[in-house]
Amino acid sequence: MTTRREFLITSAVTTAAATKPLRSFAAATPQPNAPAISPALLDRASGLLEKAPLIDTHNDLPSALLEVGAGDLTKFDLSVRQPKLCADIPSMKAGKLGVQYWSVFVESATQKTHISLHEALREFDVALRLIRSNAAFEQARTADDIERIHAGGRIACLMGVEGGHMIENSPAALRIFHELGARYLTLTHWDNIDWADAATDRTEHFGLTELGRQLVREMNRLGMFTDLSHVSADTMRDALRVTRAPVIFSHSGAFALNPHPRNVPDDVLRLVRENGGVVHVNFIRPFVSADGHAWEERRAEALRGIKSRLTDQAAIDKAIANWETSVGQPPATIADVANHIDHIRKVAGIDHVGIGADFYHADESDMATGLGNVTRYPYLFAELLRRGYSDDDVLKVAGRNHLRAMRQMEKVAGELQRQEAPLITEGIKPS
Ligand SMILES: [Zn+2]
Repeated sequence: MTTRREFLITSAVTTAAATKPLRSFAAATPQPNAPAISPALLDRASGLLEKAPLIDTHNDLPSALLEVGAGDLTKFDLSVRQPKLCADIPSMKAGKLGVQYWSVFVESATQKTHISLHEALREFDVALRLIRSNAAFEQARTADDIERIHAGGRIACLMGVEGGHMIENSPAALRIFHELGARYLTLTHWDNIDWADAATDRTEHFGLTELGRQLVREMNRLGMFTDLSHVSADTMRDALRVTRAPVIFSHSGAFALNPHPRNVPDDVLRLVRENGGVVHVNFIRPFVSADGHAWEERRAEALRGIKSRLTDQAAIDKAIANWETSVGQPPATIADVANHIDHIRKVAGIDHVGIGADFYHADESDMATGLGNVTRYPYLFAELLRRGYSDDDVLKVAGRNHLRAMRQMEKVAGELQRQEAPLITEGIKPS
């Protein structure tokens, strides 16, 4: 199984415009607009986050546990710092994290060999064992659960499934995932699936197919968020047209600030305002940096050149790593992440923005400078306070927007369950 990092390297986005003049990202100022954050603002932010609660909608610790330790949790005591993992309990507490959605992630290439559902079960298994491995954690299934667990001083844990390929076109699998505790399904990951287009693949279905629209409506009936991170803009628009409940973007950014195809365009941000949904902002350097998309195009071009010369995968990995070292990473700081929050606030409104950092391994260099690990959330919120956000604004971004959307999603599900029968499509060819 390839690691997430290998996956990101080898699946770099390509476009026809990948012949930009060479420029060194290392030569750019390492921390443009690096904010000076005062201890007083940091204290105020920490106090608000303890109250909020702080909800992060995307962390890949289950995949990391499978990659680093083959899923053997006896190898990792999460009650002490774990430098090889993307989260542990002392770091989460230092970061004032109250609620974590653990990502159930399986690469979309598994759909070619029809092992996505099998691999998803391994991810659910490790995620559930993770949640039950320590008394500091408790599984939450509802917004009320989240508030009760947080009030009791524990960390509320939920699961989100990152990629519709994992249900293998089966509403039955979707329902079982919900039964296990999944509270969102990201419609696609990096590649298109039978019923939805991804942001980073070619246009195939022009959004959602009929099965895709039916599955969004089934998620509404079940009480599971439709997650529109990673999907194409047309899939976003289609889903927003058919959903009866608020949607989320579990780890996205604003397209206006970095034209990466997986970021959210302004017209969709305006639709999210009408829908009552929440766009959760990630901290991944190439997605938040204004230069991130250009950097990915350059990397894809370099990778094509390397692959034309080399065939051995280890040699290819080494060559692209050398390229990254020589060119440097695209610059991104706390200020850039705050800029995405500001932009979404400006276009969609303060009620429609949240946090979904997407910590996925222990290497801090892939995240915006200053937000390299889960202890760092208070610095971002201190920056928002420095920009004039009120206490109430901070509480909304930290978690209250998500709780509001979740309660509405639950209310819609309660109503639909009285009116609609479960979706049955098994045996029907997806179109
Ligand atoms: Zn992702």
